[in-house]
Amino acid sequence: MRITAIAAFDDNYIWAIQPAKHPHQVVLVDPGAAAPCQQWLAQQQCQLAAILVTHHHWDHTDGIAELVAQWQCPVYGPATSPFSGITEPLQHGDTLRLGELDIQLQVLATPGHTLDHISYVGHDALFCGDTLFLAGCGRMFEGSPEQFHQSLRLFTELPAATSVYAAHEYSLANLRFAAAAMPDNQAVRDAQQRVQQLREQGLPSLPSRLADELAINPFLRAQSVAEFRRLREWKDRF
Ligand SMILES: [Zn+2]
Repeated sequence: MRITAIAAFDDNYIWAIQPAKHPHQVVLVDPGAAAPCQQWLAQQQCQLAAILVTHHHWDHTDGIAELVAQWQCPVYGPATSPFSGITEPLQHGDTLRLGELDIQLQVLATPGHTLDHISYVGHDALFCGDTLFLAGCGRMFEGSPEQFHQSLRLFTELPAATSVYAAHEYSLANLRFAAAAMPDNQAVRDAQQRVQQLREQGLPSLPSRLADELAINPFLRAQSVAEFRRLREWKDRF
């Protein structure tokens, strides 16, 4: 399958999944804005087959009503979400099967950034919304440090080759924090160079790879709830 970033707002990425066998049937993840999606679908001569939601925040959901009005597609998302546009509710342990598209994704409950947050994993890809970023993690708006730490532990058990499709381009700022938190970490400095070059060319720094995140992401590397809490509080003031 092919996965492309559609840029929205200042730093959001809406991920467009094109199944290998049906590349003109697209699945969108977290379409917070309809216009860039409609434009991309028209350019690629694609139809929208389904929408996946990770959590209720407006910058992940505000485009959905307009897209559904045009495409009449199902909207998959967390069963516990305050967002009212979900037609196919999902919870931890569910398998999302889009049979005709040959797409199969496992659903992980990943509360912390919000309480309703879920992530989707399959086909060597992780769609983690605002739970995990390149070298960072989302702000803890609704969950507890215990919940957030546990959510990140789930990610560490996935195959290291998994590509990480996070929803925001926060990579350079996150890497500056990672360098402060782990001053002796050479992998962080290497990632800073790599990301800087991509950004200078106007390219997304994402997807990241889980193997890299296990080396450079201080939040993913936190060994305890207390360490996670200390890092999250430090980053909020950084
Ligand atoms: Zn969010």
